[in-house]
Amino acid sequence: MNFYTLSLFPNLIKDSLKEGIIKNAIKNKHIKLYNYDLREFGVGKNKQLDDTSYGGGPGMILKPEPIFEAVQYIKHSNNITNCPIILMSPQGKVLKQSIAKNFITETDLIIISGRYEGVDQRVISNLITHEISIGDYILSGGELPTAVFIEVLSRTIPGVLGNKESLSDESLNNNKIKYPVYTKPKSFKGMDVPEVLLSGNHEQISKWRLKNSDINTKIKRPDLI
Ligand code: SAM
Repeated sequence: MNFYTLSLFPNLIKDSLKEGIIKNAIKNKHIKLYNYDLREFGVGKNKQLDDTSYGGGPGMILKPEPIFEAVQYIKHSNNITNCPIILMSPQGKVLKQSIAKNFITETDLIIISGRYEGVDQRVISNLITHEISIGDYILSGGELPTAVFIEVLSRTIPGVLGNKESLSDESLNNNKIKYPVYTKPKSFKGMDVPEVLLSGNHEQISKWRLKNSDINTKIKRPDLI
């Protein structure tokens, strides 16, 4: 999958994704990440990107021309004819694992970050195909939401997670959260690992995990049931 991000602070996105699983996903060519700087598409010799709001009101609004031009440039220079164009926005659908799965078959995704008071409505009405929020709170910009979205999506791509990790075993799969996990030592300050996990009996271990995944879900995330 190819991710093309467009933002005022491309390094925020790049730096958020330069370690761990995503670094390996890029190295192993499961994903490609291109970060475009919106400033390069600013209007006039001052490269203006924002302006005041018609009708009054606080803050500045990102102008439409730089965003339209940048998207056209990204599409043209990467031979993209059609692809989802996503705006990270607190007004969008709240990101869930199930939403990420909807994009799994895409080859190219353009992801735009807003800043200031947001983005001119003509961009949203005529260019954007999806608005996605990472939660019901307001951040100063869409760069961190973009990095979150890319990480969530990348983890769903076959081969990105190694054998040691698997999506099917993770929380939020099948509307459940995961069972409790333990590692060595067996006993720590009087707290013991449940006996069944040391038994080597795989059937019993599976049963215990299933039961405790249900209990965990009921206690921590009853809204999932
Ligand atoms: N004034 C806007 C409103 O009321 O909808 C919020 C603008 S916010 C300060 C600036 C930018 O940060 C947004 O355009 C968006 O790109 C990004 N942003 C903020 N919170 C977000 C969230 N929860 N999810 C995704 N993007 C968010």
